[in-house]
Formats: sequence, structure tokens, C-alpha cells
Amino acid sequence: MNAITPIGAASGVEGCGERVILRQRGQREVFCGLTGIVWLHRKIQDAFFLVVGSRTCAHLIQSAAGVMIFAEPRFATAIIDERDLAGLADCNEELDRVVAQLLARRPEIKLLFLVGSCPSEVIKLDLSRAAQRLSQSHSPRVRVLNYSGSGIETTFTQGEDACLASLVPSLPAKADATPQLLVVGALADVVEDQFQRIFSELGFKDVRFLPPRSASDLPPVGPGTKYLLAQPFLTDTARILEERGGVRLEAPFPLGAEGTTRWLRAAAEAFGIDPVKFQEVTAARHARAVASLDKYKADLAGKRVFFFPDSQLEIPIARFLAREVDCKLIEVGTPYLHRQHLSVELDLLPADVQLSEGQDVDLQLDRCIAARPDITVCGLGLANPLEADGLTTKWSIELLFTPIQGYEQAADLAGLFARPLDRRARLRV
Ligand code: SF4
Repeated sequence: MNAITPIGAASGVEGCGERVILRQRGQREVFCGLTGIVWLHRKIQDAFFLVVGSRTCAHLIQSAAGVMIFAEPRFATAIIDERDLAGLADCNEELDRVVAQLLARRPEIKLLFLVGSCPSEVIKLDLSRAAQRLSQSHSPRVRVLNYSGSGIETTFTQGEDACLASLVPSLPAKADATPQLLVVGALADVVEDQFQRIFSELGFKDVRFLPPRSASDLPPVGPGTKYLLAQPFLTDTARILEERGGVRLEAPFPLGAEGTTRWLRAAAEAFGIDPVKFQEVTAARHARAVASLDKYKADLAGKRVFFFPDSQLEIPIARFLAREVDCKLIEVGTPYLHRQHLSVELDLLPADVQLSEGQDVDLQLDRCIAARPDITVCGLGLANPLEADGLTTKWSIELLFTPIQGYEQAADLAGLFARPLDRRARLRV
């Protein structure tokens, strides 16, 4: 039976009253956490992701990443075959051999992630012990860490959370308690550079990003670290940062003109930046971002949107669509709802939106088809049947593969939703 649980309004000046959330448990349609490798391997340029998994796992990330045959990729799969599954082979010996071969061939690798999968978990291969053993044998040249991307344990964006959470214990301790801003969550380099410029103009002295672009540039953490989440799915990473002395800044996520300004303002206020200075640095950028949305507003205003739970970006994106391009939200589903991390976002959502957490996919499909939304945001597995039923879909995975954060990407974010409408309108002609 589906439980309906009230969520109290989070703190803030724009409270939206008591909300109800539909909680469902049943069959779900989401990608596993291996998918995160597709954007993480581009970010940390001297890291390598070795999935310990099956041919299915290898196919998933190869096709998701669209690897060119002549590229030198920064990920691979060590295939567990039938002999391993039957316990006839020593997987640890095999893993040590594969890692030694890889590191001999690729001297540029400084950080190696062993990534667990469903098969490695089924045979109870202890990758944390393997990572410790391999770290000792390949230290100091290479640090070896492990995390799970298994579909048994993770949904698609939790792979990034698990990866960063495995990295936090390796971050150096901060030498003193001087203030430092840490931006947490993988951002495209172009977006990171834009934010770095804005923080510099605002007068921030020490701004670091996690994940860094290089394993040799791990940001320190400790007293004085205030961190700003750039992604809403980093629950474990945030918890471990706090265990190391980091303090989270309460903010929405930097999506759209409003989200970006509020996100930057949370940092500026926490670091005592003069509000006049803040206005000087952000006002023109904010105004340009608002103006850039105009061309999409005509297409998107009044359009009814339904979100299936997938990326955990659903609530911030729904807030952007409702407040900045005037969409109507029918249902906003999310795999997990982290009340603290999303409290400001929840305050900003229209009061009458149906929120749902978790999934019983058949029931949710029935609700979606009955509602006949103009745009349905969902995973790849649901898109084809919904399109066949005459609905217009947006693949949620694109929200991770496309730079969407910050002022200069606000129009690109709106464009991601306007394009499928345009495509359907052309097909109709
Ligand atoms: S980790 Fe599990 S869900 Fe993901 S591709 Fe491998 S077998 Fe499939």
C-alpha cells in the first residue's frame, strides 16, 4: 500500500505550507551508479575507473559514453566470468594482475577507482580490501580507492556520491581555520571556470572544487571549510565532509538565473561579502540570464510537466521550470528526497505540486498517461513506450551530460525542454 507522508515546510521566507508526498515502493526503472563514470572520467583527468563487473556492465558504460574506438578511455571493465562466479578462480589474483598491467601501460594514472557492480557484490568480492592491498603495492605512484556502482545499491547519480564519498577521507587536512569555500559536485570545466571568475570578482580568497581536475590537486578540508553543494545527490559525501569539519551552506542549486543568484548569495553572505559588491558582480549576469530565457518562455509557458524519478535533479529542475519559464508541474518524482539538502528548493516549489518519492513504475505510468502531460521527464527505458503513446519525453540523463548550471547555461537548460516540443510539432506537420 502506498503511504502518504506529510512533509513539514522547511525553514525560509517563502514557505509553501504543509506538503504531502506520495511514497511508493515497487518495480523501478533507473540506471545503476556505473553511469556516473561517464561524466566523472572526464572530470578527474589523471584518474581511471576500473569496473569489476560483467559484460553487461561493460556494455552499459561503453554505450552510455559513446567511446570512439581510437580513444584512450579512462575507464574499463575487468570482466567477471563464469569461472569467477562459480568460485573456481581467485578473483583477487586476477584483479591484481589486471591492475598491474593497466598501471604499467598507463603511467599517467595517479588515482584508480575500483568500482563494484552487481556481479562483484553477488560473489562478495571485497573491493575495499583489494583497494588497500593495491594501494600499498602501487604507492606512492598511484592511490587506489573503491566504491560501489551496483544497481542493487545505487541509482544513477548515486555513483557520483559514492565516488566522492570514497575520495573525502583522502583529502588533506586543512592547516588552519582560515575560511575556505568548497564547491562540491562535478561541474563541466566551462561552468567551473565561470563560477571561479564570479567568486574571484566577489573577493573570495580561497575557493576549491571537489572533484578536482587532477588527483594531485585534492582540496584540503577541516575547520574553516564551508561547502556549497553544486548537485543535489551528494548525501554520503556531505556527511563525511561534515565529519571532517566542513559546514554546509544552505542554498538552492545553481540552476537558472534565480537558482544561481541564490546559490551565490548563500556563499557571499556566509563569507561576509558586501551586498553592494554582490549586486555589482551578479546583477548584469542575472539580467542577461533572465533575458536569455525569453525566447523559450513562449514555447514553455503553461506546458504541463511530469517527472519520473531518476536523476535526483528533479526538484531543482522543476523549481526552475515553474518559476523561470512558467511551466505547470503535474507530478515531481524523485528516487530519494533529502529534506535538509532540498529544504530551500521545496520552499520555492509551487504549493500545489504533487511530490513523489520512490517508484512503483506501473502505477506511475498509469498516472502519467492519465494526466497526458506536454513533457514527460524520464529515463531512457520509459521514453520509447511513452513516445509511442503520443507523449513528448525528455531523457533525464541529458541533464547530467549537458552543462546546465550557472547564468550562461540557463537558456541551454530551458532549451533542453523546448526542443522535444518543437520536434513533436514538426513531426505533426
Ligand atoms: S552494475 Fe548491475 S545494473 Fe549496472 S550494468 Fe552491471 S549488472 Fe547491470
